[in-house]
Amino acid sequence: MLIERTFCPNCKSREIFRNGSSDGRKRIVCRECRKSFYSKSNAFHRHKFPEQAILRALFLANSGNSPREIRAALASEGISVSRQTIFSWRKKFSGKGIF
Ligand SMILES: [Zn+2]
Repeated sequence: MLIERTFCPNCKSREIFRNGSSDGRKRIVCRECRKSFYSKSNAFHRHKFPEQAILRALFLANSGNSPREIRAALASEGISVSRQTIFSWRKKFSGKGIF
């Protein structure tokens, strides 16, 4: 799920750092070979729902809310998700230290 790139695609060094962003994409620079590239990650970007919605759903679930209540809470924030989606998030993220 979290596919943040943590190494340089050119030399595989892990000594990389963010160097701002242009047109919304994260620019990453490698300390070793000095090549720069764009982070493809934006892990949640490709996801159908924003990270905040997922984290919020997990937090609510963790606080003892039912999927129905979580749905209602997210709906009040303009995010429409199905109970199946919430269940799948719980399944996906449980035991990963988030949930
Ligand atoms: Zn490199």
